[in-house]
Amino acid sequence: MKKLFLVILMIASLLLMILPVLVTAESDAPQFDLDKGTVMLNSGYEMPILGIGCYLLSQEQAENSVYWALKDGARLIDTARIYGNEEGVGRGIRRAIDEGFVTREEIFVTTKMWTSDFSNGDEAVDASLRRLGLDYIDLMILHHSQPRNDVQAYQAMERAVKAGKLRSIGLSNYYEPEDFDRLVNATEIVPALLQNETHPYHQSSEMKAHIAQYGTVMESWFPLGGRGNTQVLFNDPVISGIAAVHGKTSAQVILRWHLQAGNIAIPGSSNPDHILENVSIFDFELTEEEMRQMTLLDRNERFADY
Ligand code: NAD
Repeated sequence: MKKLFLVILMIASLLLMILPVLVTAESDAPQFDLDKGTVMLNSGYEMPILGIGCYLLSQEQAENSVYWALKDGARLIDTARIYGNEEGVGRGIRRAIDEGFVTREEIFVTTKMWTSDFSNGDEAVDASLRRLGLDYIDLMILHHSQPRNDVQAYQAMERAVKAGKLRSIGLSNYYEPEDFDRLVNATEIVPALLQNETHPYHQSSEMKAHIAQYGTVMESWFPLGGRGNTQVLFNDPVISGIAAVHGKTSAQVILRWHLQAGNIAIPGSSNPDHILENVSIFDFELTEEEMRQMTLLDRNERFADY
């Protein structure tokens, strides 16, 4: 009995120690405006919280998908030098602007610096600007942690911010708090965003709490599990059950969960029906109980191995 009391006492004091950290982390996290569909970044720029991802899209697919997404009301576009479709993305943007239903200022474009460019960061920024056909890029992120020279690459992005070529800068694929801190401690501008594999089976809770201390927001890649894995998530009984209750698809429930959980989401697709489906998630809301059920799905299990 005495032993049990001691164990309870130990757990209670441990919780008292951890709680303030968790509460601080959560309150420091950039707050999403779910009505406007935006978040204010620590860089002072407003970013849409839902958009389109362009991984594995050809130049032509990227052009069309970006154009359709903008037509459907999406304002956030995610590409990367290594996807080989920045020109297509730029063409899709220009088509939309030329048709007059969106302005450059309303669109938020993200691209990524690939690891083999890290030693020539200044040139990499200029090359992405050229390929996209833009005067400035809203957000550029380092594609992967690479301790050998990622600080050097990040400093090139800092110079580009000062030169007005980039508005916000951030990181991708930093999975350990220590690795994130290593870069932050060696550089000046705090990352606005971290883009990591994040979905219901890998909810990134530890990294989210960690980066929240810096006012850095989490963005989910593989928000639907990624090509080849989506059916696993779509057929999860909790997710499909919630979808049935709301008369929505599993994809829509997962994306809505991302936004309510504080993750920016960039689902990838070249299918116009899916693109429209993915942006149509502002007319329903998951209840607290549904959010709790979704939280319980976390297995800390990634689909990708990079
Ligand atoms: P995802 O989780 O968005 O899934 C894409 C798959 O889901 C595709 O097969 C697509 O056809 C399908 N899909 C999309 N909408 C659907 C719908 N409504 N119904 C049924 N199927 C649907 O995976 P992703 O595209 O690889 O990731 C999203 C984006 O994240 C990428 O496009 C890319 O921009 C970015 N990304 C970044 C990294 C990184 O290392 N930083 C890695 C991978 C992806």
